[in-house]
Amino acid sequence: MPHHRQPPSPPPSRSVAVGTNPERTRSHNRRVVLETVRQHGLLGRSDIAALTRLTAQAVSNIVAELVAEGFLVEQGRRRTARGQPPVELAVNPDGGMTAGVEIATDHITTVLVDLAGKIRAQRIAPLGDVTIEGVQRLAATELAQARGAAGLPKRLLGCGVVMPGPFEVEGMSSVGSSPLPGWAGQDAGQLLTEALGTPVTIENDATAAAVGEHLHGLGRNLRHFCQIYFGAGLGLGVIIAGQPYRGAFGNAGEIGHIPVVLRGLACACGQEGCLERYASVHALTETLRAAGVANLEPDEITKLYGQGHPALLGWIEQAAGLLAPVIAMLENLFDPETVILGGGMPEGVIDALIAAMSPQPISVANRPGRTIPRVQRGATGRLTAALGAAALPLLDTITPKLDRVALVQDEATADGTGPAV
Ligand SMILES: [Zn+2]
Repeated sequence: MPHHRQPPSPPPSRSVAVGTNPERTRSHNRRVVLETVRQHGLLGRSDIAALTRLTAQAVSNIVAELVAEGFLVEQGRRRTARGQPPVELAVNPDGGMTAGVEIATDHITTVLVDLAGKIRAQRIAPLGDVTIEGVQRLAATELAQARGAAGLPKRLLGCGVVMPGPFEVEGMSSVGSSPLPGWAGQDAGQLLTEALGTPVTIENDATAAAVGEHLHGLGRNLRHFCQIYFGAGLGLGVIIAGQPYRGAFGNAGEIGHIPVVLRGLACACGQEGCLERYASVHALTETLRAAGVANLEPDEITKLYGQGHPALLGWIEQAAGLLAPVIAMLENLFDPETVILGGGMPEGVIDALIAAMSPQPISVANRPGRTIPRVQRGATGRLTAALGAAALPLLDTITPKLDRVALVQDEATADGTGPAV
């Protein structure tokens, strides 16, 4: 048999290029320009060209479009010593909004965030019917109600939805406390795009929570951090160099299913002794229920903590004892600036967990001259995952790909067509 040579595969950097489709390149470059202005606040055209590595002509064309469409506004001229002072551009807060929706097992949180990153509306509604139709109906109603408030920009640029992960794991479909029965194996993105009437990006709750904390909470001044998220189970979001780390299939950070107790409690994932069987909202309510506590509302649990309820204190001690070495492991793996605990756990209980972890096990984070604590409670509370979700429609298509701009430009220049916009 003759030996056939395989066609040469493109170099790796080419394989991530936006592609040669001019429409896609154009919309990509528009989003890059918009995001660059959004991140920097006020920029002149030449600043934008320098930051995005697009040509002055390309930037000029894109800016003209974005101003005409109401995404950018001109803010007058900057004072300079000599020459033509540049017109500065800013995002138009009223140019549009993105929606963030968190579908949890017992509630749906909806937020609307404008182009300047300001929260314009927020709602939390109890979720009783977790069937596909029930979730579709409530999510659509909540989004419509949020958008109906007076004085909000009409344009909706997309919607990020967070649901409990993991996604599409063989033999792990019933992971956790069976978050949303009926949704396993379904195309959640498609089902929710239909229900909400806007393009939907799906993310797992812990990753979205880390993005929310990064944009709106404690993580604002941090580039590298881990966030342990108390959601339907126990998740982990990892921000590396300012970007969420998702893994190859969007399932990175499924920390709740790391076994921490030899021959421990059986878990729905099929293993025994998983971390989230001991350290999660589900584990806490299970413990309190077994101790005869009927009212498991967050406020009530906080009250029990104040009263020194023995079952609650015992749970905190055990959960903290199991979490502490896992956090030290995260520190050794990722060398983060800090580890944040957040999500649906009452704040007082999170504080108690952190206090009970002390003294923390030795890890690479145990160094002199630390300016921030190794472990701290998040600042965005119950909205955190929904806020991260609201950033997805913009973040997903723009921010992680800023390095591709140069590539698009190179390709365009190489064949003499100039940059496509
Ligand atoms: Zn498990």
